[in-house]
Amino acid sequence: MLIDSWGREITYLRISVTDRCNLRCVYCMPPDGINLKAHADILRYEEIAEVVRVAAQHGIREVRLTGGEPLARPGLASLVGMISVIPGIQDIAITTNAVLLARQAEALAEAGLKRVNISLDTLRPDRFERITRIGSFDQTWAGILAAERAGLTPIKINAVAMRGVNDDELLDLARLAQDHPWHVRFIEVMPVNNEAPWGEGLPNSISAYMPMREVRERLSVLNLEPVESENGAGPAREFRIPTGLGRVGFISPVSEHFCGECNRLRLTADGFLRPCLLSDQEISILPALRKGEPLLPLLQEAVGMKPRSHELVENHRPVSRCMIQIGG
Ligand code: SAM
Ligand code: SF4
Repeated sequence: MLIDSWGREITYLRISVTDRCNLRCVYCMPPDGINLKAHADILRYEEIAEVVRVAAQHGIREVRLTGGEPLARPGLASLVGMISVIPGIQDIAITTNAVLLARQAEALAEAGLKRVNISLDTLRPDRFERITRIGSFDQTWAGILAAERAGLTPIKINAVAMRGVNDDELLDLARLAQDHPWHVRFIEVMPVNNEAPWGEGLPNSISAYMPMREVRERLSVLNLEPVESENGAGPAREFRIPTGLGRVGFISPVSEHFCGECNRLRLTADGFLRPCLLSDQEISILPALRKGEPLLPLLQEAVGMKPRSHELVENHRPVSRCMIQIGG
């Protein structure tokens, strides 16, 4: 078992498979991009599967693939196939912008993928293009529908709530859970290397920040009823609209951090174990992997480094990576 210094059992590994993306969301990366890693410095699929094998022998049961954009890395279904047959892995999911999902949903489901979380902050095509700097709403929407047809359910939609950006659409987004059996989850914008102006007439992460308490108040007309959270809800507090088919969830990493329940370890695309999303501490697993050295001591060291709670509490912000280089 991987148990940290505060008694939390670590059962969830969140793996970034690439630092590249086909979108450039304003809260996630600077307008002129990031310094991309050379391909040789990115973990190969076999190397990722090896980390999962060792982790699964020591209690990791859930894996989530993220990025950058995971579907932008060729052959992702083959990685899903490798991971889904590893003994001990009970759940494998992907977080994606869904731009490429219409083409890949069937193959991913056949390879053993169970569910997808799709990032969608707006239902307005012009706004979608501003937030993502280059994206097309229609592609993401087609991806959501394809995922549903392929049985990658329940579909979870993640929307970052931002004052002055999409706060006039919170009700419209929540109402997706009225007509569809989808879980719409609002999340607070996190201050991860995104404090410079976002451009395009948008604010930045400080002025765009909205606490989930306020988002819930704005949705009070929906008369949301609390529901027991299912497995896989993670840190979301979940509700239903009385006559709705889906769920509405709230994730408040900043205002009500859920560190006490944290069961996560992260692996970056360039092979660093990151004990906490919002802390810059990391250790590299790549040299050990490539030399064939034991990985367990590094997993244990990373788990041992997990802070009790993230450092935003003390006003320290992570600065070493943008969110696109961590994976969210
Ligand atoms: N490209 C995929 C996607 O967009 O779903 C996966 C990677 S993305 C980094 C993972 C999640 O992080 C997305 O849901 C995105 O909205 C969220 N995210 C990125 N930057 C964020 C920030 N500063 N605050 C809150 N969420 C953020
Ligand atoms: Fe790409 Fe996802 Fe970041 Fe948007 S949030 S830039 S889609 S990695």
